[in-house]
Amino acid sequence: MQNPVSVAPELAYIPEVIAKQKSYFRKGETLDVSFRVKQLKKLKKAVEENMDAIHKALFDDLGKSEAEAYLTETGVTLKEIEAAILSVEKWARPRKVSTPLFFVPAKSKILPEPFGTTLIISPWNYPFQLLISPIVGALAAGNTIVCKPSECAPATAKVVEKILTDIYPPEYVAVIQGGVPESTALLRERFDFIFFTGSTHVGRIVYQAAAKYLTPVVLELGGKSPCIVDKDIHLENTARRIVWGKHMNLGQTCIAPDYLFVHKSVKGKLIERMKEKVKQFYGDDPQKSEDYGRIINHKNFDRLASMIDQDKVIFGGQTDRDDKYIAPTFMDNVSREDAVMQEEIFGPILPIMEYESLDEVIDFVNEGEKPLALYMFSKNDKNVRRVLKECSSGGACVNDTVMHFANANLPFGGVGESGIGAYHGEASFEVFSHKKSVLHKSFAMDLDIRYAPWKKNLSKLKFLMKNLV
Ligand code: NAD
Repeated sequence: MQNPVSVAPELAYIPEVIAKQKSYFRKGETLDVSFRVKQLKKLKKAVEENMDAIHKALFDDLGKSEAEAYLTETGVTLKEIEAAILSVEKWARPRKVSTPLFFVPAKSKILPEPFGTTLIISPWNYPFQLLISPIVGALAAGNTIVCKPSECAPATAKVVEKILTDIYPPEYVAVIQGGVPESTALLRERFDFIFFTGSTHVGRIVYQAAAKYLTPVVLELGGKSPCIVDKDIHLENTARRIVWGKHMNLGQTCIAPDYLFVHKSVKGKLIERMKEKVKQFYGDDPQKSEDYGRIINHKNFDRLASMIDQDKVIFGGQTDRDDKYIAPTFMDNVSREDAVMQEEIFGPILPIMEYESLDEVIDFVNEGEKPLALYMFSKNDKNVRRVLKECSSGGACVNDTVMHFANANLPFGGVGESGIGAYHGEASFEVFSHKKSVLHKSFAMDLDIRYAPWKKNLSKLKFLMKNLV
């Protein structure tokens, strides 16, 4: 189908890039699994060789320390690449399934096949990992890729472009730099698959654009991820793990604990311990800590600053617009009506609410949109089971925060408003593959009863369907 909408002259190169990829895909080179392994190995080598440049770019964009950049961006991505190199041959194998007697002689199998030309759009908060990680899945599954890094992390976008264009021709992997006009121009085109990571608002735009061509999508979105703290906990580790998950990348993490719901009996002790942890991690003045990054831009700084209600601040609350700095901030006695509870926070502000009965918490969570992650701290297995059973969320982590993301054996994704589809490890190969079901019949044996006229065979057909299918 031709695209009926004309594009701005400066973006006219975009349809050409896609046309070239489609024609390259049809040549079939990417169908060969050993070709894919070779491409993944090139990517691994390029990431390793450019590690310093990537870390510097992440510092320039987000003030990330080298250790944090390695832990949450390059290290975790290298693990994804290595897993794909090691396992793609196994993942790509035809999967035999049984064939009911009625069909014999025949064999049945599921053949994973690449979708074709895919589009990957990524956000700014983990600008390296959230672009390269889906690319790994797309390459492993044998697709070609047009990717658009986030314009809000320009240094990382530039390094990523250099890495990818050094090792891949544009008919295989193309990088389109830019913001909304470029995204919009891309979304007008017909792709075979779209993988989007970003806000729920833009996710809707992507979904609508995909609907025009019935293009399958994965939408990795956000939301308000609750952190529930029961009365029976290990206080020290609970405080440490919450403060760690909340302030990594200054809370600009899609699965950061968004708000805290803590049992009344431990609330005071937990808050005091969390304050200690902030000081231990980042010193008395986090603005001076090399492990505490910065807010991505002034637009987000202003959005976050407007959420802070100084009357409810019990810790932190300091801001410095010129430096895009917001201190780790706890707000107490918060309710659903507060500005901070109206949208995903995506910053270092932690609203705290207390509860007495788990029913209140479960009702509160279920009255909101389904979150991307849910955290439950408790030694009480019955309470843990109840929360996991009664609250729907994309993923969940018990007695820790964020860590479920790093286990490549756990597919990562949202549900409802927090997203569609999941990836990581083998799940990445799966989402970027169409599973083609194949029944392979032999020419031998052909039962007359399946052919018309049927009337005389109805009773035999009923018998066969009942017993042999
Ligand atoms: P965003 O939705 O503003 O932008 C994401 C991408 O979409 C960018 O590349 C941007 O250029 C593009 N874009 C922006 N406006 C567009 C439009 N009108 N039409 C087409 N494309 C457009 O998100 P962001 O601010 O970069 O990232 C923050 C959001 O992403 C948060 O909501 C966060 O929870 C979510 N997120 C989710 C995950 C996940 O894995 N589920 C990971 C990281 C971030």
